[in-house]
Amino acid sequence: MTDKRGTRKRRRNSKRLVIILLFELILLALLAGSYFLIYKGKNDTNTPKHNNDNSQGNNNEDNNDNNDIDNTVDDQLTDEEREALKEQERLQAEIKEREDLVEEAKRLTLSYDYDGAIELIKSYKGNEGGYEIYPTLVKAIEDLEEAKSSLVLYGGSYTSVTQFNHVFFHSLIADNSLAFDGDYDSKGYNMYMTTTSEFRNMMQSMYEDGYVLVSVHDLAKQVEDENGKLKFVPGEIYLPPGKKPFVLSQDDVNYYDYMDGDGFASRIVIGEDGKPTCEMILKDGSVVQGDFDIIPILDAFVEEHPDFSYKGAKGILALTGYEGSLGYRTDDPTSPTYEQDKETVKKVAEVLKANGWEFASHSYNHRDMREKSFEFIKKDTERWLDEVGSLVGPTDILIFPYGVDIETTMGHYASDKYHYLKEKGFNYFHGVDSKPWMHLKDDYVRMTRRPLDGQAMLEFPERLADLFNLNEIIDPERPAKNW
Ligand SMILES: [Zn+2]
Repeated sequence: MTDKRGTRKRRRNSKRLVIILLFELILLALLAGSYFLIYKGKNDTNTPKHNNDNSQGNNNEDNNDNNDIDNTVDDQLTDEEREALKEQERLQAEIKEREDLVEEAKRLTLSYDYDGAIELIKSYKGNEGGYEIYPTLVKAIEDLEEAKSSLVLYGGSYTSVTQFNHVFFHSLIADNSLAFDGDYDSKGYNMYMTTTSEFRNMMQSMYEDGYVLVSVHDLAKQVEDENGKLKFVPGEIYLPPGKKPFVLSQDDVNYYDYMDGDGFASRIVIGEDGKPTCEMILKDGSVVQGDFDIIPILDAFVEEHPDFSYKGAKGILALTGYEGSLGYRTDDPTSPTYEQDKETVKKVAEVLKANGWEFASHSYNHRDMREKSFEFIKKDTERWLDEVGSLVGPTDILIFPYGVDIETTMGHYASDKYHYLKEKGFNYFHGVDSKPWMHLKDDYVRMTRRPLDGQAMLEFPERLADLFNLNEIIDPERPAKNW
């Protein structure tokens, strides 16, 4: 009996236990559920879950911050909306790309390179196809063609390239007090040099008068004739009406020893801004950089007035070799900086060429090339090519020392000297005369240059009357004619 009662009691007890256990389980489930809801909910607002594979793959601490921001909006978009947004962004980037292209083309036209500008736009390849399907680009080309059609051959100022001026200078005097100090070479400086202020005045005056710098390689071009033979023809330089193309060159850009301490730059260097500039040694021996000669002065002038240069042309730098080049004594293998200087000249020459400058041979020894023998010219030229040409690169321009031409002929060059120089690659031959003179033959160009130096200004001012009003040019610190 007790057994029966006892069994019944135990059954009742275990029933109660089951109910309590069930109750507890429900409570636990509720607690866990609310905890999950609250905690997870919090986490969702702070750390949105990443939808793309990339952000999941990069789910480390470094990337979390960025992904959080990037994906806040993204999270609310459907896949289609996200695709549409991406497409919109791509289209906007392409529109910007085309606008930039038109701007770049317009910059080319500042120096009259309309053909280059049109070509640039025509080279465009968009996602949908070539330039012709984009109205902005088609319109830009129409505008360029129209502007180009207003240009005239040689600015209408000349009927032939043979009338172009070619002016030349030596190193500019940067410190008048040192150059004109009355010592034995100040007379020579007064005759053959121009001061930086005179050069600036000349460029300003020529610019205002419509002059535009051109390269001799645009003035006369080598083309193939019907028999496949190369021959020179006049370049077709188109400029706005009233513009006057001219060529500029500078001789002996070597910074010779005799000029030390006389107020000239000492060498050409690349400045911290990556542009070519000059170094000059001051009286106290300190070295400064600045615009002490033609290269940095003209570069800055053209940067300010891009319409002073046709297609970015600057001038021709004529180098001898007997005291190295550009102010570096690359002629002397015993110099402790010989190898380093050669590398520097190569780099400086590269930058100069990229800035529109060209190089010419001015012979190695600076001797009269008419008077000297064929053998001398041959040795001299080989040495120039070896020691200078190897650093500044190939050139087909020869500027005669003292302006003395190899021949006096008014016909076609016929001498052995000419044939040798032609074989060595020279095509452009430059002497000196008081007015423009030029021969454009099938196989070469012979063009004289006008000196814009102290002698021309003080002794033959009438020769420069067509170029400027000398009263506005001559440096008040220049001595009177003293030779
Ligand atoms: Zn010279």
